[in-house]
Amino acid sequence: MSEGDRGDSGRVVVVTGGSRGIGRAIALALVEGARAVLINHYDPDDDAAQETVGRLEGAGVEADQVKLDVSDFGAVKEYFEGVIERFGGVDVLVNNAGITADTLLVRMSEADWDRVIAVNLKGTFNCSQAVIRSMMQRRTGGIINVASVVGLVGNAGQTNYAASKAGVIALTKSLAREVGARGIRVNAVAPGYIETDMTAHLPERVKEGFLSQITLGRAGSPEEVAEVVSWLASDRASYLTGQVVHVSGGMYM
Ligand code: NDP
Repeated sequence: MSEGDRGDSGRVVVVTGGSRGIGRAIALALVEGARAVLINHYDPDDDAAQETVGRLEGAGVEADQVKLDVSDFGAVKEYFEGVIERFGGVDVLVNNAGITADTLLVRMSEADWDRVIAVNLKGTFNCSQAVIRSMMQRRTGGIINVASVVGLVGNAGQTNYAASKAGVIALTKSLAREVGARGIRVNAVAPGYIETDMTAHLPERVKEGFLSQITLGRAGSPEEVAEVVSWLASDRASYLTGQVVHVSGGMYM
């Protein structure tokens, strides 16, 4: 995950779901040492994405944003082909885009199951596959996947989400084993309860339930997750691969 042999100054970073929340914080944290930080998002309203791009440019890197559904295999392939052609490669991919569609399994629709798996798990596959050949050829690169504590401990009302995140963890470990010999590291973070739009609308009793399980007694911030991602993406974490780093305030040990 070093700058490789491209001869340009700085890394090319792609953060999926980088318009807001944890993804935005990750994009901003990865500015250091970057030549370009590229984000994508899902909502046709791109105000949040534009704001992120403005902040990235303000921090001195080339930046852009596109509307891209990570669950769309063909669109993802086409997007990354364009990025690789334009920049010569992707040094760091952060698979952060994710959604929830919470309800008890007994009431879960097929559409709620399929959509969450498609965005969170298949999206991670789609984006990883779109960059991995180029990373293997260049013998450098790193992928960081945003999983969740829920993927390890489960959560009532989130069978779809928990299954998707458990899948992301297994994908992380398996891909790490496939590409480690080529100098590519694949790791994951597993955030606990982080204050973003995703958690803002949770019922108070659910929030209180989470807080009661957190050793540090408070929710985390997107920046606290981004700090760990930034470290995993750096050479400071050069001997880590296939790992899941918990950023949960001790919610899971
Ligand atoms: P937010 O809902 O705040 O942001 C989600 C981001 O993902 C947005 O940028 C959104 O784009 C984008 N996105 C959603 N669907 C797609 C799609 N199909 N294709 C591309 N981009 C998409 O979520 P968080 O920041 O809270 O979560 C980020 C990641 O962290 C997720 O993977 C989540 O599962 C994980 N996580 C979050 C935790 C938390 O407590 N918040 C805890 C554990 C894990 P747009 O703005 O256009 O909608």
